[in-house]
Amino acid sequence: MDSFNFAAKMAFVRVDFNVPLDENFNITDDTRIRAAMPTLKKILSDGGSVIIGSHLGRPKGVTGKYSLSHILPRVSELLGIDVQFANDCIGEETAKKKAALQPGQALLLENLRFYAEEEGKPRLADDATEEEKAAAKKAIKESQKEFTKQLASNIDVYVNDAFGTAHRAHASTALIADYFDANHKMFGYLLEREVSAVEKVMKDTQRPFTAIMGGSKVSSKIDIIKNLLDKVDNLILAGGMTYTFSKAFGGEIGISIVENDKLDLAREIVEEAKVKGVNLVLAVDAKIADDFKNDANADYAPVNKIPEGWEGLDIGPETEKIFAEVIKNSKTILWNGPVGVFEFDNFDAGTRAVSNAIVEATKNGAFSLVGGGDSVAAINKFGQANEVSYVSTGGGALLEMIEGIVLPGVKAIRGY
Ligand code: AMP
Repeated sequence: MDSFNFAAKMAFVRVDFNVPLDENFNITDDTRIRAAMPTLKKILSDGGSVIIGSHLGRPKGVTGKYSLSHILPRVSELLGIDVQFANDCIGEETAKKKAALQPGQALLLENLRFYAEEEGKPRLADDATEEEKAAAKKAIKESQKEFTKQLASNIDVYVNDAFGTAHRAHASTALIADYFDANHKMFGYLLEREVSAVEKVMKDTQRPFTAIMGGSKVSSKIDIIKNLLDKVDNLILAGGMTYTFSKAFGGEIGISIVENDKLDLAREIVEEAKVKGVNLVLAVDAKIADDFKNDANADYAPVNKIPEGWEGLDIGPETEKIFAEVIKNSKTILWNGPVGVFEFDNFDAGTRAVSNAIVEATKNGAFSLVGGGDSVAAINKFGQANEVSYVSTGGGALLEMIEGIVLPGVKAIRGY
């Protein structure tokens, strides 16, 4: 982005403007729109023109509810110009609007996912036969080519700044890149920062490297845990999965959240950590509750001695100390998932302690990456998002990178 001069060039920028809207179509959180501004502004201030493409929601066809026109005023406001709007992302009218665009002007396209071709998945009736499905799949691959060609038409440079969808091989996130040579396709600033933050953690790792995985279930994190076991020095596993581990080793867990079909898996992870020399750190005590609510009665118990009728909703003070000690001695930190039900103020102390320890380690020179849904919500709740090295905007894309998967959107641009 920095070295390219966009003067008199027309750029297509794939952004992630998939923002939450309320029932009156007001934007309730514009973080993603703001995150794309540096890229869009650079192109415009160079004297280029910009076509902005995004999806919004999961439409099954054209629907006013998911029209990008709802966010046009906010985009204009943030860019400081009157952004034009095209009611379609392809087609004749849009082609005309593109052709008429002058340097310094921007055109926001209608929702890319109004076309099934964007994702390349046919939209079939539930009762479609196998033959119909096969025929539709074949047909959409063909029509997707035409769709992608139209997106690329009249465009000089392709820029991908949508980290949130970089794990999807869609028309606008990957296939379109084929229409541009290596010098005319590039990461936007946001994508660049996201990718380099994750690669700093996963590839250019300063040791000790500690990953903190929380959240509710081990099953949803298993691929990540397996990949991390090859990379980290310390692996802190906490949150709801604590109790699957506790039960796997004979612990009494009361009515704590548990995945009874993952007890073997928990034992395997413990074994694998041993074999690989990874310091696996599990909670030893819990803050327990007699109901799943903020104002439930609360107490503390060892994670393997939780009384009947009680459940662990947070780590206990002993565990806070153990986790904090490990975190503070780390040089690279990856945090994904809260260690307790941080949404309840009475059970957020453990997650807060983890956040505090990460902030302290960061002050002492560690590189800390926080990402993946709820840990971002947690660090925002504690007002510490600016005190860690990087807070990722990507959910699925971040998790896939941590799993070791090469993202199609990244590969389409740089080849690996
Ligand atoms: P996930 O989407 O799997 O990352 O899970 C995040 C959710 O896990 C958060 O909403 C937390 O409230 C929840 N969580 C964390 N610890 C526990 C626990 N001990 N029991 C139940 N839910 C938990």
